[in-house]
Amino acid sequence: MTDSFKDCIFCKIIKKEIPAKIVFENDTVLAFPDINPKAKTHILIIPKEHRKGLSALEENDISLSGRLMVAVADVAKKIKLDSYRVIINVGPDAGQTIFHLHLHLMSPDGGMV
Ligand code: 5GP
Ligand code: ZN
Repeated sequence: MTDSFKDCIFCKIIKKEIPAKIVFENDTVLAFPDINPKAKTHILIIPKEHRKGLSALEENDISLSGRLMVAVADVAKKIKLDSYRVIINVGPDAGQTIFHLHLHLMSPDGGMV
């Protein structure tokens, strides 16, 4: 893993310094339940490399971005979720509180987490 940020909570989860129930993992992406769920199923999907948010993505992040999207489908398949929403908050005024890129996978259905 590169580009890890010392005081970033999600980088600490990636480094296993903060516990999280890992729902899905590959070489690029990690997924775990939100600590404060706003839906019956609420999973966070994050890149293992630190990016501070969607607005920080650049041309050379196209592969990483695509792999995050495919990971959403992988997670949904893994926990047998058919219907869901995917949200990315960008900036504090839009509700971003953790400045490590993450997708919220949310559903009123209970996945098999
Ligand atoms: P944001 O508001 O930045 O879009 O989303 C950050 C999310 O991270 C929030 O929904 C919040 O509940 C979640 N969160 C914050 N700290 C932790 C943590 O230590 N563990 C987990 N699993 N989720 C966290
Ligand atoms: Zn981070």
